[in-house]
Amino acid sequence: MTTQDRVFIAGAGPVGLVAAANLVRSGVPVTVFEAGSKLSEESRASTFHPPTLDMLNGLGAAQPLIAQGLVAPQFQYRTKQHGLLAQFDFHGIADATGHPYRVQSEQSKLTRILLDQLQGDPNFEIQFDSGVQGVTQDQSSVEVTIERNGRIETRSARFLIGADGASSNVRRSLGIEFEGFTWPDRLLVVSTPFDFHSVIPGLVAVNYVADSHRWHFLLQIPGLWRVMFLIKPYESDEMILTPQFAQSLMAEVVPGISNHEIAHTTLYKVHQRVAKTFRLGRAFLAGDAAHINNPLGGMGMNGGIHDAINLTGRLAEVWHGRADDAELDRYDKQRRLVTLETIQTQTIQNKKNLESSGAEFSESLKHIAANPRRTADYLLRVSMIASLRRAEQLG
Ligand SMILES: Cc1cc2nc3c(=O)[nH]c(=O)nc-3n(C[C@H](O)[C@H](O)[C@H](O)COP(=O)(O)OP(=O)(O)OC[C@H]3O[C@@H](n4cnc5c(N)ncnc54)[C@H](O)[C@@H]3O)c2cc1C
Repeated sequence: MTTQDRVFIAGAGPVGLVAAANLVRSGVPVTVFEAGSKLSEESRASTFHPPTLDMLNGLGAAQPLIAQGLVAPQFQYRTKQHGLLAQFDFHGIADATGHPYRVQSEQSKLTRILLDQLQGDPNFEIQFDSGVQGVTQDQSSVEVTIERNGRIETRSARFLIGADGASSNVRRSLGIEFEGFTWPDRLLVVSTPFDFHSVIPGLVAVNYVADSHRWHFLLQIPGLWRVMFLIKPYESDEMILTPQFAQSLMAEVVPGISNHEIAHTTLYKVHQRVAKTFRLGRAFLAGDAAHINNPLGGMGMNGGIHDAINLTGRLAEVWHGRADDAELDRYDKQRRLVTLETIQTQTIQNKKNLESSGAEFSESLKHIAANPRRTADYLLRVSMIASLRRAEQLG
């Protein structure tokens, strides 16, 4: 078998396709293997943070995404009992980003935009129905076993990026531990076309609502609101997935309103896990294959896109002979530490804040909002700009 002078990528999710786009743009040939027969349409991430939009802009994907999404400069914290606690506006950090707002749009819109742009480029190839099963490697190449329509194939390339999601076969096959824990409670996402603006005065597109019994958050995307609720460990799947249960949850958001039109409901397990290393020889992990966290703050996919840009920028330099192999170790050093120090810590804190009674949380928000310097630092943290600056400092 000959080694192809390419980079292989397992997985055509947002992280795999951003990695592909950045490599192809830098003149590096890429093959993406996707286990599904088409791009996933699952409704998961819906928030793109300012620095992620800056990165996507470099790939020509920010404008089409913004055109299909909803621009959300403000976000709010509320409690069920007292209503609005604080509102923040990303325009406060307009000097740090070309996009001082979140864009609310499904991740499946981004993957479609990227694939459309990549199709036809001679350096790009994608193979659907092609699940990566196993990985082996030596000094000069990495070999992947692929299952395609019940048949097993083996192919070999210079480098491999495992962007094959939380259950990554690449990670398992490399024997890399996925350290961390799974929360006992779960998350139910209920989507509805009901217009919450009409019943909650002053509501913006992104709202987190603290409550010690059942916190939730309300996120608007074009045509729908997604309301995510905490589900307690003792609540059975059978009961949770009934239309009556979704209706009862929605009635908790705005008392007095009944019979919401429910577009769909999905139940998710929530984890906090980080791979023991993001690099093993010629193979790398990025996105959910490398780290997973609760969705409070919208940092999973965003962090994964930051991984993809960091890694592929370095890979392109090594590919073209402008940097040596040690450059690739900096990917693991920077992105793994930042994931542990900032993304994991912050998403865990976000969950604790929302499940509190709100009193202490409210005091800390007032303290932040009272001072422009503290507000700007806070916005740099929640927008993930601070985590990217920290990565740079790590050298
Ligand atoms: C309810 C919910 C809301 C969320 N909201 C946000 C948010 O607002 N912002 C945010 O940043 N994050 C959010 N996330 C997290 C976000 O969805 C993930 O972090 C993101 O999907 C990770 O992208 P990925 O490309 O790494 O993996 P995935 O999106 O999981 O893509 C992996 C791809 O690999 C393919 N694949 C799997 N196995 C193989 C294999 N063996 N070989 C080849 N291909 C394979 C899959 O079919 C898939 O296409 C949310 C998650 C949930 C559950």
